[in-house]
Amino acid sequence: MKAYDVLITGGGVSGLTAAIFAGKYGAKAAILEGNDKCGKKILSTGNGRCNFTNEKMDEGFYNTDGERDLITRTLSSFSKEDTLEFMKSIGINPVIRFGTGYYPSSMQATSVRNALEEKALSYGTKIFTGKRITTIKKEKGLFVAVAEDGSEYFGKHVILCTGGMAFKKSGSDGSGYELSKSLHHSLIKPVPSLTSVKCKEDFFKNLHGVRSLGKVSVFISDYDDLNDEGEIQFTKEGISGIPVFQFSGLIGRALLEGENVDVSLDLLSHMRKEEIISSLVALKENTGEYKKANTLLDGYLPYQLSEVIITLCNIKKDRKIKTLKDEDIERVASLIKDFRVTPVAVGDFDNAQVTSGGVPLSEIDPGTLESKRMPGLYFAGEIMDADGPCGGYNMQWAISTGAVAGRKSAERIERE
Ligand SMILES: Cc1cc2nc3c(=O)[nH]c(=O)nc-3n(C[C@H](O)[C@H](O)[C@H](O)COP(=O)(O)OP(=O)(O)OC[C@H]3O[C@@H](n4cnc5c(N)ncnc54)[C@H](O)[C@@H]3O)c2cc1C
Repeated sequence: MKAYDVLITGGGVSGLTAAIFAGKYGAKAAILEGNDKCGKKILSTGNGRCNFTNEKMDEGFYNTDGERDLITRTLSSFSKEDTLEFMKSIGINPVIRFGTGYYPSSMQATSVRNALEEKALSYGTKIFTGKRITTIKKEKGLFVAVAEDGSEYFGKHVILCTGGMAFKKSGSDGSGYELSKSLHHSLIKPVPSLTSVKCKEDFFKNLHGVRSLGKVSVFISDYDDLNDEGEIQFTKEGISGIPVFQFSGLIGRALLEGENVDVSLDLLSHMRKEEIISSLVALKENTGEYKKANTLLDGYLPYQLSEVIITLCNIKKDRKIKTLKDEDIERVASLIKDFRVTPVAVGDFDNAQVTSGGVPLSEIDPGTLESKRMPGLYFAGEIMDADGPCGGYNMQWAISTGAVAGRKSAERIERE
């Protein structure tokens, strides 16, 4: 029977990073990966380009129901700067693109996946693929991980890096939650995050495929200032796009808890309401003789949105613009600035980029990421109850937690 120092269950970005740091600090590690290769999800990140961290980085970007101290300490133990140095050390040249996100200058996620795997192998890490672990137990002082095919792996420590439930086709099927429950942990109910939001209104069927720049504001009790600007994408059931994704985890959790959630879209966020009104009044003067209400907003918004707004304002589409009253124009401008929609659900796990919820941070030591309930068990990555917005925050979390858990586990083995 061969016993490894550290068994790393799950070979995504957190598992590969944990293996590298366990190896760097002297431990013999084995990765047990359910897929036929490691890091499948990395290949889909950042539209295949892998946005692995962000110039703007601090713990305030992350959502959790638990101990923020763990997030703060982890991100200071292994910071954005450490990630940039780490990437350079494995041959990845970081560049800032699309605002403040860091990517490999190859702009290919495969380069990040390959570099992580090469580095893990360079420390002698054993990688076992096609090994979906169904049971982890402790026998005679060692952890035993049992795969679906019955094969068994033995280790002094285990790092659970199985991800959450988002984007199941990449291998994260939620089985890690069952493993952690069997090892005495509880679970904050996972909800899909960084996904679309389904809304109650009937008019969405006419807006499918429309994209418009604007500002999304979300109103949930206990939260202030939830807003973001960018491209809002309309689907046949609701809203999507990055400014919607950012709040989808919070919306999903609030709906789960029966709270009211309101969303307001500012469809012309670069114009004040008074400017919209004066522009429409000028338009009425210049074109009022021939232009009809259904084309009133065509130069401002996608025509499908203009039609919905005119209908919601109870203005007949074939009315000549010259007949519009001041109160009609006021109603139109108000609706453009405060277009209310009512969330009823968020998209499913298959289409979500991350999972909100997971293993409670209060059950994990904030300095080492070791379980407080099962000595020798560590956690890294999305399996824990912490998730960030789009922009490299979730990769940074997986890398920081992988680095800390791998190092701390190896250091403890060295001491024992
Ligand atoms: C489409 C998409 C785009 C994204 N883009 C970005 C981005 O640009 N920037 C960013 O920061 N984040 C992005 N994310 C989120 C980011 O990819 C994840 O948060 C991160 O990869 C999580 O890493 P992880 O190692 O914790 O989990 P995962 O990457 O999910 O890895 C978990 C691994 O564990 C394996 N596994 C699961 N259960 C078992 C088991 N029982 N036995 C054995 N193996 C198991 C899985 O097969 C998988 O390989 C994106 C996500 C998606 C889906």
